[in-house]
Amino acid sequence: MSFLKDGILTLDDFDQPSPARLKQGRVAIIECVQQIPCNPCVDICPRQAITIEGNLTNPPKIDFEKCNGCTLCVANCPGLAIFTVNEIFAETEAEVGIPYEFLPLPEKGETVLALGRDGKVVCEGRVVQVRNPKAFDRTPIVFLAIPKKYAMIIRFFKRKQ
Ligand code: SF4
Ligand code: SF4
Repeated sequence: MSFLKDGILTLDDFDQPSPARLKQGRVAIIECVQQIPCNPCVDICPRQAITIEGNLTNPPKIDFEKCNGCTLCVANCPGLAIFTVNEIFAETEAEVGIPYEFLPLPEKGETVLALGRDGKVVCEGRVVQVRNPKAFDRTPIVFLAIPKKYAMIIRFFKRKQ
């Protein structure tokens, strides 16, 4: 597991949905690999798609077929370790849902710099939605439209201004 070596996750470090599931729309991606006692993601999921087997410090597992992409787990993860991906958002663009706790929040339509897990700029992204209801308890989710090929790469962003 490369995470233990350099602190940056790679695609080998977490489960990914099948191509068939990705074709059904938005789905959660859990990138939680730390051995910490934590399980809000399990409790919040209305479809029982997330489980932790055995010890509470084990990383969670997700059943992608049960997940409908509701995003509740994204907003309720204290580690900001859950994202959503929608590969059928548009013909050439995917939508990535990113938990974002900085203020001020970006606005719909804003162009931002989309970053990979290593914090480096990969491409530009367009803010297509900002979800920030009270139920999210100050962890808004910002949805970016990005080139489809970067759907599993983009996991953060920075504003231009
Ligand atoms: S996005 Fe919704 S349905 Fe999917 S795992 Fe998270 S809470 Fe469950
Ligand atoms: S809530 Fe977040 S940090 Fe906690 S176990 Fe779930 S994915 Fe990991």
